[in-house]
Amino acid sequence: AVRFEHIDKSFGQNQVLHDIVLEAPGGATTCIVGPSGSGKSTLLRCANLLEVPTSGRILIGDDAITDPGADVDRIRTRVGMVFQNFHLFPHHTVLNNVTLAQQRVLGRTRDEAVQVARKHLDAVGLSRLEDRRPEQLSGGQQQRVAIARALAMDPEVMLFDEATSALDPELVKGVLAVMRDLADRGMTMIVVTHEMRFAREVAQQVVFLDQGRLLEAARPAEFFDTPSSDRLRSFLKQVL
Ligand code: ATP
Ligand code: MG
Repeated sequence: AVRFEHIDKSFGQNQVLHDIVLEAPGGATTCIVGPSGSGKSTLLRCANLLEVPTSGRILIGDDAITDPGADVDRIRTRVGMVFQNFHLFPHHTVLNNVTLAQQRVLGRTRDEAVQVARKHLDAVGLSRLEDRRPEQLSGGQQQRVAIARALAMDPEVMLFDEATSALDPELVKGVLAVMRDLADRGMTMIVVTHEMRFAREVAQQVVFLDQGRLLEAARPAEFFDTPSSDRLRSFLKQVL
């Protein structure tokens, strides 16, 4: 599980997260939805220390990753992250995009790293494309490489920040299918998304952030069918 305990985050005078309390259970998918600027990315980025909370604690399993002595590099290997814009290394092949961190960070041999990379590239349907460079792939293919790269590090948790928002509509499906498959196999996931259908069908928990506050966390049926706050009701009216 990933536990957020009373997380506040400010940028200068601007407080963007207010006392966030949330548990993302192990082996389950938690989807975070909310308006632009509500703090979804900031909250997600706190979970792998791309942002440091102003106060509060975040635990992964029993480890408080926000404690002063925490090993940031090690924590990043435990938490895979997939971004809207893929963030692949442009000058490396697909295969090397998936092997580099395995070798550098985990100390795997080239042969081990290649073997692991091929397993994950195969699982996302890209085994034939391992010699291409990112620019020779579609956006959907690039995003699947990014997912394979994150999985190759054997993370305990996967974070997705609007992983399909930059994709042409016809490419969204393939990436969502990979994410759904991962969820079905019991990966612990926190997914910021505009895909309400994915949230309803795949998540065990859906969370609504609004102006830096967590206004609702519920099972999907309850979240979508009987929202308890007016803010969530009007948000859902806009997006559904
Ligand atoms: P979107 O749906 O548009 O991606 P979001 O819910 O992910 O929005 P965040 O990106 O977390 O929202 O931003 C929350 C608030 O924090 C916004 O007001 C934003 O301007 C501010 N913010 C985010 N990152 C920084 C930063 N590095 N420095 C200053 N302010 C920031
Ligand atoms: Mg965002």
